Amino acid sequence: METLSVRCNHCGAPLEVAEKTRFVTCQFCHSSLEVKRTDNSIFTEEVAKIAENTGRMAESLEVIELQNELERLDREWGIDQTNHMVQGRTGPRPPGNPIFGLAFTIFFAVVCFGMASSAGSHGTPGIFIMVPIGMGIFALVAGMMGVVKGQERNESESRYQQRRAELTRQLEALKQR
Ligand SMILES: [Zn+2]
Repeated sequence: METLSVRCNHCGAPLEVAEKTRFVTCQFCHSSLEVKRTDNSIFTEEVAKIAENTGRMAESLEVIELQNELERLDREWGIDQTNHMVQGRTGPRPPGNPIFGLAFTIFFAVVCFGMASSAGSHGTPGIFIMVPIGMGIFALVAGMMGVVKGQERNESESRYQQRRAELTRQLEALKQR
C-alpha cells in the first residue's frame, strides 16, 4: 500500500497516510486531521478548525439573514407610513392627532344638533331638522373612526418597534460572539 508523507497542520509532525485516507489523527498531538489534496500538493487541516469555520460561516449567514429581515421590516414600515400619510397643503404629511379630530367633530356635532333643536322649536319643515342631525352623526362617526385608526396605527408602530429591537438585539449578540 502506497503511503504519503504529510505534516500535521497543528504541530508540524510528519505523518504517513495511506493514499486514499481522508481523515487521520496525529500520533503526536492527537489532532483530528483531514487530508486534503490538490493537483500537486497534499496537506492536512484540523477537523475541529473546519467545524469552527463552518460554525462561523453559519453565524455570518444568520447575521446576513437578520440584517435582511431588519431591512425588510424598515422598508415595509416605510411603505406603511407612506400609506398613512394624508395630503397636506405642502405635500404628504403624517396624520394629526385623532383626538383633536374627535374633539372638533364633537363640537361640530353639537352645533348641528343645536341647529336642529332650534329649527325644531320654530316649527320649520322636517328637512331642516334631519339634515343637521345627519351631519352631526356623520361627523361623530368619522371622528370615532379616526380615533380607532389612530390606535391601530399606534399598535402597529409598537409592534414594529418591538420586532426591530428584538432583531437588533439578536444581531448584537451574534456580532459579540
Ligand atoms: Zn500533530
